Amino acid sequence: MPRAPLTVEDHVAGVRSGDRAALGRAITLVESRARRHQDLAQAMLLELLPHRGRAHRVGITGVPGVGKSTFIEALGTMLTAAGHKVAVLAVDPSSTRSGGSILGDKTRMEKLATDPNAFIRPSPSGGRLGGVNRATRETMVVCEAAGFDVILVETVGAGQNETVVAGMVDFFLVLMLAGAGDELQGIKKGVLELADMIAVNKIDNLGVQVAHQAVHQYKNAVHILQPPSPNWAVPVVTCSGLSGKGLDDLWAKVEEHWQVMSKSGERDEKRRRQRIEWMWSMVEDRLLDAVRDHPEVRDRLPTLLKGVDDGSLTVTLAATEILETFGVRAE
Ligand code: GDP
Repeated sequence: MPRAPLTVEDHVAGVRSGDRAALGRAITLVESRARRHQDLAQAMLLELLPHRGRAHRVGITGVPGVGKSTFIEALGTMLTAAGHKVAVLAVDPSSTRSGGSILGDKTRMEKLATDPNAFIRPSPSGGRLGGVNRATRETMVVCEAAGFDVILVETVGAGQNETVVAGMVDFFLVLMLAGAGDELQGIKKGVLELADMIAVNKIDNLGVQVAHQAVHQYKNAVHILQPPSPNWAVPVVTCSGLSGKGLDDLWAKVEEHWQVMSKSGERDEKRRRQRIEWMWSMVEDRLLDAVRDHPEVRDRLPTLLKGVDDGSLTVTLAATEILETFGVRAE
């Protein structure tokens, strides 16, 4: 006889019990795009919200090869040894297209994957950034309710991913390599604006002089930017995920930031702002989907696109027609 489907209560109890398989199932539910799963997931999240702890959420980005997985493995292991429970999540909407999710291959973090106090979850496969964003934020709530007190969110330094991850964490760490030159290793300058700290990684490989130069270069780069808070000057530190050098100092800075932001009230304020921004971004996403999927809009679209393309129609007229077809009256 097939098993009865799990109820909201089953999921909540499973997550709260700390059972990994149950946690995995709850996250799968959150990631599902099926309507009935979504309804169940939302009911479960409502039940879990009061049990949500105050996990420290840290985003980590850097170009492929900068050493993110090696770094997270070392940092995560250091944190679990210090008594933390660490969840590692990923935001990588490109994973299905590129064929290789950043965390799809758990063997990249072999030690952490078998650590009883760590939980690694690859990026949900498929879907657009908006969907991955929602799933990751809701997965954080589930992990917090399951007792994880540190959540590391990994993302590749490409496209809009960093902005999305910076918008869901308390602290955003950018890993860099030395000797990058002016082009900043292909990372858009914009990512530095999101950084709460920059870490020059792989220093085990470098001479003191080169490491020093790199720190100097990044300090100059952040110096000209507006600091993320009047109470926080973005530090530039050095570390090696491979040897573990510098990780204690790096984490001490992350904790210092948490203290400073808690004391000033900025941490709670930031979370409040993030939730409201998230709400509006979901409204935008869903509205756009609804407009695009509207049957009459779909019928009209080829003609409108052709008009915009050959210049026989202005963009404003085309946009107005799309909105009016959908049912939004122009002003
Ligand atoms: P990711 O693509 O950013 O996740 O980078 P990985 O962690 O997979 O590392 C890319 C390569 O750099 C691998 O060959 C690692 O062994 C190497 N690597 C990572 N961290 C360090 C480090 O701290 N020092 C040195 N020398 N090599 C590293």
